[in-house]
Amino acid sequence: MIQGNYYTDNEDLQNHFKHFIDWKEIIDLYEDGFRDAQEYKSTGNERLAMAPSSHEEALTFYEQILDAYGDLCGNEMSQLAAPMDRQGLKFENGKVTHPPEIEKFFEKFNDAGLRPLAFQKRYGGIGVPNVVKALGHEMSYRADGAISISVASVNLAAILEAYADKEMRDHWIPKLINDRYSVTMGLSEADFGSDLPSIRTRAEKIDGKWRLTGTKRFQTMACGLNKYPAALLALARTGGVDSGARGLSFFLVEGKDIEVTGIEKKLGIKASPTCEVAFENAEGHLIGEEGHGLSRYVIGMLNGARLSVASQGTGLATAAWFEAKKYARERIQFGKPIDQIPAVAKMLRRMERESKAMRCLMIEAASAVDHYHWRSLRAINANEKQPKDESMRKWEKLASTITPMAKYYISEMCNSIAYDAIQVFGGAGFIEEYDVARLYRDARITNIYDGTTQIQVNAAIGGVVSGMAETGGLRSHLQGMLDLVAREAAPESKIQTELFAELESLVTIYKGLEGEKKDFSSFEVVETATRTLNSLALAKTSLKLSGEARKERFKLAEEYAVESLGTALSSKLKMTR
Ligand SMILES: Cc1cc2nc3c(=O)[nH]c(=O)nc-3n(C[C@H](O)[C@H](O)[C@H](O)COP(=O)(O)OP(=O)(O)OC[C@H]3O[C@@H](n4cnc5c(N)ncnc54)[C@H](O)[C@@H]3O)c2cc1C
Repeated sequence: MIQGNYYTDNEDLQNHFKHFIDWKEIIDLYEDGFRDAQEYKSTGNERLAMAPSSHEEALTFYEQILDAYGDLCGNEMSQLAAPMDRQGLKFENGKVTHPPEIEKFFEKFNDAGLRPLAFQKRYGGIGVPNVVKALGHEMSYRADGAISISVASVNLAAILEAYADKEMRDHWIPKLINDRYSVTMGLSEADFGSDLPSIRTRAEKIDGKWRLTGTKRFQTMACGLNKYPAALLALARTGGVDSGARGLSFFLVEGKDIEVTGIEKKLGIKASPTCEVAFENAEGHLIGEEGHGLSRYVIGMLNGARLSVASQGTGLATAAWFEAKKYARERIQFGKPIDQIPAVAKMLRRMERESKAMRCLMIEAASAVDHYHWRSLRAINANEKQPKDESMRKWEKLASTITPMAKYYISEMCNSIAYDAIQVFGGAGFIEEYDVARLYRDARITNIYDGTTQIQVNAAIGGVVSGMAETGGLRSHLQGMLDLVAREAAPESKIQTELFAELESLVTIYKGLEGEKKDFSSFEVVETATRTLNSLALAKTSLKLSGEARKERFKLAEEYAVESLGTALSSKLKMTR
């Protein structure tokens, strides 16, 4: 793998940080009047010592984190990716063993303070908004998917900040971080993966304590990492057998109270343990209220995990594109480097276009979550019962629509980019000695776990259709971008206008369909909505650059819009025949 600082070697990623992200509101929302810095002054709470006290300080702090992330991931984790994939994990006598190199890297990453990226400072976390987290995770996933999960799974427990009571938050979050826990999403069972409302693991209250019994499948990191422990955030049935989603509650279960009965042999992410586990009267600590396990808490956790998969796909596509670009510059055929052969240059250009579109979409999703989540968390913590205001409702809707759009699109597209990377390498790409073969295998899980593409489309379609209504939030979000692009870049923006009109047309056709025909066409509508958003985000961000850089990015945005318009027109044909 290319070795280097994955922050400083990636101009597009840096452009997002330095020029494209609208920081003002995100910093205002996340830093909340810089209350951590004020609290540090008055209480001396050491956890808040690094808290910024101005916009400038916040940006400097966020960039330092990204630079440190880029350095450790790009210079060290990336070099472990291939040997750890070859070595894999051992399972013997009920115990999973990670190679010592992974354990050492885990300790180094932890000691550098980079592990708890998703938590707020007051609980011992780094304290950065989701847009920074997304860029950080992108760099670690560019280095390696399996090791990224092994070192950073604790971040799944950020869901406790929103839904656990104060006592549980204050006890468990610092413990999970300081005692170096790995954290697992305890959802899937052998018979129920997408169909989570039907899961069978039971939880009963016995002598005042919750006890869980059942088995779970595909539990990433449920074994912990060698001597370091694990905790599962497990979904279990507290209602009757037929109680459906409303009978499900959410528990924290310690790894020491469950049995790991095996690990899977897999196509990719081989250095990440996928465990089969058994619960036999395992003690569970209830999170939030009984009965809201799936509808509120697991959905919240999955939304965080889906953002993380969006970073995974963007990082993986970036790795594949950079590796292909380097190889194509060096590989000579017919007396010249293959990147000068139009058919190869075309593949590389598509890889660039898509990687940049993916990063825009990842940031769109993370930023929508930032706009909603911190407002909502403040209201929850203050125990405010008043109804959500209009802005909060708008961002809630956008976050819950754009997050599955990002998970679906980026995970599908990173597979396609990894496929093309192998093509650029020719025969060498098919050989395990080169990294692109591993990237291709590792990409395949991204559109399956944390909800398959089909489940993401189901999650997004309602928000797309209602959001495109006359007063819908998605329409006004897209229209705002389109107006800006048209104002600043007319007349070149014509293609963006046409694409937006095609999206409107597809939504109208979709609304007129009946029964199963609707389900058959959801994908096409979500695809065009996602491509329209990406297309406008690429064009809008080009306006933040100047000179040649601006022209070049706008050209890329146009190429992307042309391809998207073709997809939209083909979808229209399919939907109207
Ligand atoms: C390596 C790996 C790691 C994992 N890590 C974890 C983990 O840490 N924790 C955890 O809980 N789970 C984990 N999983 C499980 C993963 O989330 C599930 O495999 C995934 O959600 C799909 O469920 P399933 O495998 O049961 O497939 P199924 O639900 O059986 O789906 C099979 C097919 O049917 C489609 N389908 C099913 N229902 C619908 C529907 N309503 N509409 C449209 N299409 C549908 C699916 O899209 C898919 O194409 C992991 C899986 C793997 C392979």
